[in-house]
Amino acid sequence: MAHFSWAQRILLIVGCFFLSACTTIYNPATGKNESILLSTATEVSMGQDLHKSISKEYRFSADPVKVNRLQQIGRRLSVISDRQDYLYSFYLIEKDELNAFTTPGGFVYMYTGLFDKLKTDDAIAGVVAHELGHCSARHIAKKFQAALGYNIIGTVVLSQLNAQARAIASQSADVAMNLVFSAFSRKDEYQADSLGIKYLYLAGYDLNGMIDAFELLQKESKGDFVPLWLRTHPFIEDRIKRVKEEIPLASAKYGHIGNYSQ
Ligand SMILES: [Zn+2]
Repeated sequence: MAHFSWAQRILLIVGCFFLSACTTIYNPATGKNESILLSTATEVSMGQDLHKSISKEYRFSADPVKVNRLQQIGRRLSVISDRQDYLYSFYLIEKDELNAFTTPGGFVYMYTGLFDKLKTDDAIAGVVAHELGHCSARHIAKKFQAALGYNIIGTVVLSQLNAQARAIASQSADVAMNLVFSAFSRKDEYQADSLGIKYLYLAGYDLNGMIDAFELLQKESKGDFVPLWLRTHPFIEDRIKRVKEEIPLASAKYGHIGNYSQ
């Protein structure tokens, strides 16, 4: 300690204080201990603020049959999710584009352009289960945490960090939506696919629904045109290959409680 300058000592104290402010939890979705900077309450509050912006910018489907179908599929999968510290909600956006996305706090959105092209409940469930994988592995929260990173050094008190995250969601919806629509890493995509397979299996959906959905999105890519969902969820060819390899292993991995043929 004697060799540290005063400045270094102060940095050390500040660093220790900051680290002690982080919460480390075991995440059953990833099987790892993770440092969580954003509290669940912050995530939910951010998701609610973003939902207000999304409600202003987009029109939700007024078709009760379609909306119920999405919500029922969402509910059946979300009760299986590894993450149960918030409530999930599912919204169908009236927009003729191939897209689905998730915001902090368990808000899952699908566009009618994608919903209408997915032929079976299993295929719709394939996309929803993948999105839930991003939720349970906290990939969305990590995107926000990473964006806030430049401020972290100067932010000693965790409540300030949470307040900053909230401010991003409530005051600059554009910045927050850019984060929502930024691409996930290859590692995060593989992980969300694996978790998606797990949730599909445990909820009793046909796992091939995920392949059907991914192949539809791949087929809809023409020349320079890439469906919105593939821009935020890239590496589709590798993912289809891996999902096809993983599907036959599901019953050995997760037991025989799923109804594979349903
Ligand atoms: Zn994804």
